[in-house]
Amino acid sequence: MPLSPEQLAEIDAQRAQTAPTRRVVSPGMEAQLYSAHPVLDHGFVRVIDYMGDDAAICQAARVSYGTGTKSVQNDEGLIRYLMRHWHSTPFEMCEIKLHVKLPVFVARQWIRHRTANVNEYSARYSILDREFYIPAPEHVAAQSAVNNQGRGEALQGKEAARVLEILKADSARCYDNYEAMIGQEGQQGLARELARMNLPANIYTQWYWKVDLHNLFHFLRLRADPHAQYEIRVYAETMCRLVADWVPFAYKAFEDYRLGAVNLSAQMVDSLRRMLAGEAVTQEASGLSAREWREFQEVISYSEGGA
Ligand SMILES: Cc1cc2nc3c(=O)[nH]c(=O)nc-3n(C[C@H](O)[C@H](O)[C@H](O)COP(=O)(O)OP(=O)(O)OC[C@H]3O[C@@H](n4cnc5c(N)ncnc54)[C@H](O)[C@@H]3O)c2cc1C
Repeated sequence: MPLSPEQLAEIDAQRAQTAPTRRVVSPGMEAQLYSAHPVLDHGFVRVIDYMGDDAAICQAARVSYGTGTKSVQNDEGLIRYLMRHWHSTPFEMCEIKLHVKLPVFVARQWIRHRTANVNEYSARYSILDREFYIPAPEHVAAQSAVNNQGRGEALQGKEAARVLEILKADSARCYDNYEAMIGQEGQQGLARELARMNLPANIYTQWYWKVDLHNLFHFLRLRADPHAQYEIRVYAETMCRLVADWVPFAYKAFEDYRLGAVNLSAQMVDSLRRMLAGEAVTQEASGLSAREWREFQEVISYSEGGA
C-alpha cells in the first residue's frame, strides 16, 4: 500500500471521529469514508466526503418537504424510472469528493471529464515522489490488430522482459536527473516547475476530485466499460464498488440501464425486428456498415455463459 505510517495514522484518526448530524447519511458510505482502496501499483481512491443518499434522489424528484421516502419499494421504483427515462437532475443532488492517486497518463484521460471540480498536487510547489507505474507482466501487451485504440495479446518472454526493463530504467534515470537538477548542494538548483518537464507520464500525481452522481455515472459508463483502457478502468471499477455501497438503488439502476445496456441504431432495431419475424437479414440488406454489423452481431449473438 503506497501510504506512509504517518498518512495511515492520519486516516485512522479521521475514521475514529464521529459527529452527530441532522443531515442524511448513507451507512454504506460511512463505512467507506477516508479508507484508501489500492489501485494499480501505487495508486488509490478514497472517499473524503459525500452528500445525499438514495432517498435524497427521490426527495429532489418529488420536491418534498420531508426525507422524500414514501417506502423503500417506491423509492427504488422511482429511481429506476428516473434512470430509464433519462430524468437526470435528481441524481445531480448527490455529490462525492474523492482523493485519487494515479499515473499522469491516466490523469490525462480522466481530466477530459470536465463536469467535475479538481485540485491537483502542485509539482511547482512540492517535489514529486519517486513512484512510477510499472505494469504487471500480464498487462504488457502488443498493439491490437483490430482496434487502433487498444491492446491485444500479452507480450511474451524476452520481449516482455525487455519492455519492463526499459520502463524501469527510464523511470529511474529520469527521476535521478530530476533530483540532480533540483538539488541545492553546490548549485543553485533548478526550479521544480521546470525540472518536472523531464519526468515521464507514468509518474504518479494526486488530486481531489468532486463530482455529482449524474456526471459520475457518465464517467463510470465510459471508463468502467470493457473497451476503456485497463489503467483507468481499474479506477472506475473501484469507484463502482464505492457507489454501490453509497446509493445501492441508483447504482443498480445504473448497472441495468447504462453499464449493462446497449444502444441500437434505427437500422439495428429494424434488422432485429426482421430477424425476429424470421427473415435471414444480411449485412448488405441491413443498411449497416461492416463495422456496425460486427458490433451488432456482438450485441445479439448468444453463447453459453453470456452474450
Ligand atoms: C473510448 C474513448 C476513447 C476516446 N478517445 C479520444 C481521443 O482519441 N481523443 C480525444 O481528444 N478524446 C478522446 N476521448 C475523450 C472523449 O472525447 C471525452 O472528452 C471524454 O470521454 C469526456 O466525455 P464528456 O465530454 O462527455 O464528459 P464531461 O466533460 O464530463 O461532460 C459531460 C457532458 O457535459 C456536456 N458538456 C461538458 N462540457 C461541455 C462543453 N464545453 N460544451 C458542450 N457540452 C459540454 C456534454 O454533454 C458532455 O457529454 C475518448 C474517450 C473514450 C471513452
